[in-house]
Amino acid sequence: MGNEGIVISILINDFAQKKKKLNFKEKKQMQFKVLSIVFVVSMMLACTSSKKENKATPQPIGIVIHGGAGTILRKNMTPEKEAAYRKVLAEAVQVGYEILKKGGSSQEAVEKTIHLMEDSPLFNAGKGAVLNSDETIELDASFMNGATLDAGAISGVRTIKNPISAAIQVMENSPHVMLSGKGADVFASEQGLEIVAPEYFFTERRIQALKRVKESEQKKKETTATEQVFLKNQRYGTVGCVALDQNGNLAAGTSTGGMTNKKWNRIGDAPIIGAGTYANNATCAISATGWGEFFIRSVVAHDISALMEYKGLSIQEASRIVIHEKVASLGGDGGIVGIDNQGNIAMEMNTPGMYRAHVDNNGKQTVKIYKDE
Ligand code: ASP
Repeated sequence: MGNEGIVISILINDFAQKKKKLNFKEKKQMQFKVLSIVFVVSMMLACTSSKKENKATPQPIGIVIHGGAGTILRKNMTPEKEAAYRKVLAEAVQVGYEILKKGGSSQEAVEKTIHLMEDSPLFNAGKGAVLNSDETIELDASFMNGATLDAGAISGVRTIKNPISAAIQVMENSPHVMLSGKGADVFASEQGLEIVAPEYFFTERRIQALKRVKESEQKKKETTATEQVFLKNQRYGTVGCVALDQNGNLAAGTSTGGMTNKKWNRIGDAPIIGAGTYANNATCAISATGWGEFFIRSVVAHDISALMEYKGLSIQEASRIVIHEKVASLGGDGGIVGIDNQGNIAMEMNTPGMYRAHVDNNGKQTVKIYKDE
């Protein structure tokens, strides 16, 4: 009970005890006393509630990114390599956070953040993407707006410098959700996006990686444990970003080169709305990374949202179930980053590591690589 409550109960007791013995004048005095106290108490209550209103927290903001999940082990990492990853992750997540802090949209934050990772040769997206079996590079990306449930995606493109922007253009300037191949490249060019020669995306590291994967395939003999880790990691490295802005709008985006040595215009989960990317203001925004075939079959990003919407689960619990129970039981591996409409986040993986970073509502930045961090 607050102070006001205590005052009222003392007064009522006092009044009840004296009631029988009071003469007319005393009754009038008592009535005046009661009215005065009721007035003072009402003023106190009004002040308290207006103070509470002033203290109400504004809409939280937040941003989470990933740069791929996989068998990322300390023993295979040099300090220089680790520092390089942490630096780009920190820069990228900060770019998005600054946009959100200034009142920018979650869409803009996701797009600009992903640009930084697409432009970095470290990640399997944009420059530095992995090579197909025929030594070409094909890129996939998708974006979803949680406020409108609008979405856009592109797959198998070869000349768009920043595929995430092409996905957003599909959403905003076409009647479609997904474009593929040459047509998607032509569309992006018509929209005025930056077009580059296919060679722009190539890096020596990925050329060597494709050679090594092919050699291992041809050897047909038992591979060493180190070789197995290397081969497994060639599947991964996608980038993704989810954000919540000051208007309470969620957005999610994912961009990738897919898997090393992929054939037949294979497409993974990254450009598939509901599998690699999903955003809904009613629940959360999710971006996934991992073995795409399993993430498509588990409809990972939408499944997390559905568990929140239909079962009332938290983002952490929903992500844990989907990554550790559903995907894992099929034999798939990978992870997700997510943020809900209150700014709660999830960074869940069933692999030894996932490049990831987060800035919370107070501007506190976290960058992590290994699962046990
Ligand atoms: N999910 C991507 C794919 O299957 C790969 C990755 O996340 O690294 O294409």
